Amino acid sequence: MYTIDHIYINGQFVTPHGAEMFDLLNPSTGQLAGQVRLGDAEDARRAIAAAKASFPAFSRTTKAQRGAMLQRLHDAVLARADEAAAALVEEYGGPHNTSVARSRYTAHMFLDVKQVMDDHAYVKTINKSTVVLEPVGVVGIITPWNSSAWFIANKVATAIAAGCTVVVKPSELSARQNQILAECFHAADLPPGVVNIVNGRGDVVGAELSTHPDITKISFTGSTPVGKHIARLGVDTMKRVTLELGGKSANLILDDADFARAIPMAVAACYMNNGQACIAGSRLLVPSHRLDEVKRLAKMAAEAVVVGDPHDAAVTLGPIVTHQQYERVQHYIRTGIEEGAELVTGGLGKPAGLEAGYFVKPTVFAGVTPTMTIAKEEIFGPVLSIMRYETEEEAIAIANGTPYGLQAYISSTDLARANRVAHQLVAGRVHINGIHDDLIAPFGGFKQSGIGREFGPYGLDAYLEPKAILGEAAQYR
Ligand code: NAD
Repeated sequence: MYTIDHIYINGQFVTPHGAEMFDLLNPSTGQLAGQVRLGDAEDARRAIAAAKASFPAFSRTTKAQRGAMLQRLHDAVLARADEAAAALVEEYGGPHNTSVARSRYTAHMFLDVKQVMDDHAYVKTINKSTVVLEPVGVVGIITPWNSSAWFIANKVATAIAAGCTVVVKPSELSARQNQILAECFHAADLPPGVVNIVNGRGDVVGAELSTHPDITKISFTGSTPVGKHIARLGVDTMKRVTLELGGKSANLILDDADFARAIPMAVAACYMNNGQACIAGSRLLVPSHRLDEVKRLAKMAAEAVVVGDPHDAAVTLGPIVTHQQYERVQHYIRTGIEEGAELVTGGLGKPAGLEAGYFVKPTVFAGVTPTMTIAKEEIFGPVLSIMRYETEEEAIAIANGTPYGLQAYISSTDLARANRVAHQLVAGRVHINGIHDDLIAPFGGFKQSGIGREFGPYGLDAYLEPKAILGEAAQYR
């Protein structure tokens, strides 16, 4: 049992004004693992005041000074990477190997962002004027529970590169990861007030950040309904927003694809992070005349998934984060069956021997049509929907026929064709023949998957405001 009873404000760990203790259950066992004391609106205001006070001096620091801070942050986070990985495994059941990899690149993110900052021109000449990119101000960062430390690190690193100060409201479900990160920020010896972290409820601390006049921007990762709500809350003070929201990403298998490779990859693209990934390829679009082969390959791949205790290095699918989310996934499986989808494998209930935790059977449905609930809504669990198409045009229309537009996947042996299709997909990222990582290329969504982009120069620009100096500006900076 652990207790986290401090928040991080103005370079110090302080006792929150809020007194609510929130129970943290281990999703693999359902047992109480710890408690976190939640901050309240007053704590949020103290943090905002600290970030505001530190902004004038921090916004004038040089790239070299901020680069040194990013290097120190990398070192501090890397030194705690194994501990952070263990927290990830315990807090939301991330499988051991992927959690270790994720923790290491959480640290590396600080160096990636440093490189992007070094390469970015903060002063440019456009026509006959000088354009200066200035930090947008005090930023409120609101993050979800899935891969929490990684989202926080990316946003904080980018804000620092821009010269912004921040208040982070992480998910209460990731309290241990939040605590480790806060200790890393402290160890990196940042000026007090540059980074503040307040655990708390979304509708209390998150709402305070989203409405407070001293916050100029909100960077949010989470669900589409909450993202919309935050955008509405911020409009009175005209907050800039970066919103990374939900998805219902399509995986297009073109008829010339290498099916033996593409279908297991499609199952992996849906089940990543225990199926709890915004970028999950949850709709598998396949040519009608290859459907039987696809079902056979998908069933084989899903049944080869090793479900169980995420501490075990052989396990590839851990539990769902909470009992509530588990019930939500069960609801979608039940709805799939009731609406007439064909259950290829998996289904309702827990896998044998794993009744204590929030484990879901790796599930595949076929015969899914675009009007079914499981084809339309984000499930956030290991549930793959196979949908058939007759022509390439129909496949593209189905892929684009949702309010989301986060990512898409294409498999084909004809690269010219795959690229032609990629251009027609309405998605922020399109992966061809694989699940690819690129932490510099822009990341974000079209349509209701969000507003703005993270990573690389586009991500950095989202924390900067252009100011044009007209007339005799040559001496500026
Ligand atoms: P969520 O939207 O429920 O919560 C996200 C954060 O918002 C939490 O910190 C929560 O406390 C806070 N929040 C809740 N209500 C709020 C309010 N009224 N005002 C301000 N803040 C509030 O999401 P979740 O369940 O934690 O995470 C899963 C969701 O996140 C999924 O929909 C997933 O697709 C999405 N997600 C998107 C990306 C992306 O990059 N696009 C990445 C990961 C997760």
